[in-house]
Amino acid sequence: MTQTPVDLEISRAWLVDPAIGREGPGELVVHDGLLEAVTWLSGTEAAGIGPDGVVIAPGFIDFHAHLREPGNEDAETVASGLAAAAHGGFTTVCAMPNTEPTLDEPGVLARIRAAAAISGSNVELLAHGAVTAGRAGGQLAALGELADDGVIGFSDDGSPVRSATILRSALAYAGSLGLPIVDHAEDGSLTADAEANEGYVATVLGLRGWPSAGEESAVGRDLAVLADVVRDVPGARLHLTHLSTAGALDQVRRAKARGLPVTCDVTPHHLGLTDEWLAGARRWAWEASDDPWTDAALIGPPYATSLRVNPPLRTCADGAACLQALLDGTADAVATDHAPHTEVDKAVEFGLAATGISGLETALGILLAAVDSGRLPLLRAIGALTIGPMGLLAGRSRRVVAGLVEGALADLVVFDRSSSWTVTPGSLLSRGKNSPLLGRELRGRVLLTIADGRLAYEAPDA
Ligand SMILES: [Zn+2]
Repeated sequence: MTQTPVDLEISRAWLVDPAIGREGPGELVVHDGLLEAVTWLSGTEAAGIGPDGVVIAPGFIDFHAHLREPGNEDAETVASGLAAAAHGGFTTVCAMPNTEPTLDEPGVLARIRAAAAISGSNVELLAHGAVTAGRAGGQLAALGELADDGVIGFSDDGSPVRSATILRSALAYAGSLGLPIVDHAEDGSLTADAEANEGYVATVLGLRGWPSAGEESAVGRDLAVLADVVRDVPGARLHLTHLSTAGALDQVRRAKARGLPVTCDVTPHHLGLTDEWLAGARRWAWEASDDPWTDAALIGPPYATSLRVNPPLRTCADGAACLQALLDGTADAVATDHAPHTEVDKAVEFGLAATGISGLETALGILLAAVDSGRLPLLRAIGALTIGPMGLLAGRSRRVVAGLVEGALADLVVFDRSSSWTVTPGSLLSRGKNSPLLGRELRGRVLLTIADGRLAYEAPDA
């Protein structure tokens, strides 16, 4: 946006700094782009300032986003993706490599970086490289060259790393480079032609079932290979992205307990939405039941393709498991899996629709709904968007700490929990309007996003 360093004073707001585990009333001064002063208030000075109003937090980091450029600029460009990120409060975005061509060699990374530079956005763009050439699963991509060029990890996301043998080599090689393999855990032999989470809702709607085992068997394979590799390559690291089932999260919980170097993330939509939305229910996961028909909860149209996502929306018990995983540290981060699509790719029958949700701009709203429900502390929600993903970046972010650090370039988001906004095609800056939350009011409107000391987003009336 603008290249002028920001000058700003905000008095009487609720500061949240997960880097030091602190939240409370305070004020903050940004001068010439630098965070000059962070002052915590107490006593009479703090009177009347609560966590339900204006909140200031470190800028969010999204570990998993699809920006579609190069190759599918009708769905998203680097420029529109970074604009959407800033609108969502994100100041660092990690792009997935399933572009066309695939980001499997440094030339493609250079193109993406050039697009980011031309966009003028101050949002930091990081990227994952592919694990295999063309994401075809056959042979390793140029992992060493990609690492030299600054990728933060390797992923064939969109697909799993297909062969256990390749996964084994990749974990060893990437581990020696100090980088993680980021796997989309899916056993394709269990999910071929699957449409919706296997269970009551899919049965009633006549959609082909997508079993939890499709994720859990892949997680089991990945953990077994990791345990094997880590004996020889202690630096090997596995990150499991967008885990969606209670069983898979429990596998990670147990693997962490026995010391395996595994991390994982959950998405806002798997935490907040459930498969009953496919039938037309529109309740949050923590309000849902497994039988929306007897509850008379159906208020929306069934089979909305904006809900088709991989992995699929699961049961309310799975949503609760995602929340529990965040609370007990099994899940290291919330990642959006922002997956913008054109209308053409979604305006088809349910099972044929492209999978994915445009999620950068609604992540905060879903998490704040969980906070409002009393099930997620605000500090933990913000931590899952800041210090959590920061710990996954292998030190490759321009930021040193995802905190409110005096003397550093200002990198922060200001949002108002007392103010709502309505998700509409026009309010989303992403080209991907494929959000199941269209028409819904979300609390916690972003007023201001500052990245690298410069303005990245400002609400029209802020
Ligand atoms: Zn994926």
